[in-house]
Amino acid sequence: MFGSYIDRLYGRSPKWRSVRNEFIKTHNVCAACGRKDNLEVHHIVPYHVDPSKELDHENLITLCGKKCHFIFGHLWDWKSWNKDVVEDCVLFNSKRTNRPQVIKFAQMPPNKMGYRNAIFNIINSYFTWPFNHSFKWNNKQK
Ligand SMILES: [Zn+2]
Ligand SMILES: [Zn+2]
Repeated sequence: MFGSYIDRLYGRSPKWRSVRNEFIKTHNVCAACGRKDNLEVHHIVPYHVDPSKELDHENLITLCGKKCHFIFGHLWDWKSWNKDVVEDCVLFNSKRTNRPQVIKFAQMPPNKMGYRNAIFNIINSYFTWPFNHSFKWNNKQK
């Protein structure tokens, strides 16, 4: 509601919000990890470094809120930025999609714990024995 007012306080273009929303419609997954929620639009060249690129779609990339934006976009420092963000996201996205699978059976989403999960893990640890002795009662325990 007060978004555009706050944008202007921070020197943002009044068009930024609509440009961002338009961009996220066609770029609706995190470029690094493939998540579809908690998405943010990152400037490849920060808008305070080159204000002319603030609304340029070529200068935008979608990253997810908590981790990928901070790590891939800003190299663990919001005051900095990653000039190779596009290349790094392409590389890590391909690493992610080709990652080796330790758990061979159907992997449950980590936030859906419960007894179905426990059964999956028992079956799974049976098939991976003797490499994995311990039962895992949820996916959070590693
Ligand atoms: Zn991500
Ligand atoms: Zn950013």
